[in-house]
Amino acid sequence: MLDIRQDFHVHSNYNDHSAANLTISNVVNHAQKIGLDSLAITEHVNMESSWIEEYLNEIELASQKADIKVIPGFEAKILRDGSINCPKECGQYFLIASFHTLYKEKSVWVNALENAIRNPQVNVIGHLGPEPTFSLERNEIMELGRLISTNNKLVELNAKYHRPPKDWLIIFKECGVQFHLGSDAHSLDDIGRFETIMDLIALVNTS
Ligand SMILES: [Zn+2]
Ligand SMILES: [Zn+2]
Repeated sequence: MLDIRQDFHVHSNYNDHSAANLTISNVVNHAQKIGLDSLAITEHVNMESSWIEEYLNEIELASQKADIKVIPGFEAKILRDGSINCPKECGQYFLIASFHTLYKEKSVWVNALENAIRNPQVNVIGHLGPEPTFSLERNEIMELGRLISTNNKLVELNAKYHRPPKDWLIIFKECGVQFHLGSDAHSLDDIGRFETIMDLIALVNTS
């Protein structure tokens, strides 16, 4: 059962394209104020990120003061070969792997995704869906679903991108895939907002 008091995909001002007031402490305080009980802070990371230690310390401090569960995490890009664009240490934390580049070739995309799913460091596949230039057949979606399920990865219901597509979600559910919620907030107001994906949530929550 998905619980809308849990948001497992929230950004911070450690990147350069989120709201300036999206500090770790503001994020945690806001999440508390709107009644969330769990929050994962999952900043965009890559091989060059030099702020990781400071970021983790700040989350640790904020979480000690908080009345809610605060999970330190990262979101990293799935590269063309399926490796994840983050320093190895990030794998010890809650790690969302997402596509942030169009690879324009279905076989490349599927291969990259399968490698990401098999990666033991990855916990979640973020905002999953096909690229605009290709679609997947039912049996291909099913194969992915089985792989996700046997590798115990979570598929995120993403409020920013309304992902995964409904038909994928239904097939994944048949495969025994587990889901969770991510607002993908880049501003305080977006934290814990799931109005846009109530249809997807209902699909998961109805047996
Ligand atoms: Zn993303
Ligand atoms: Zn994100």
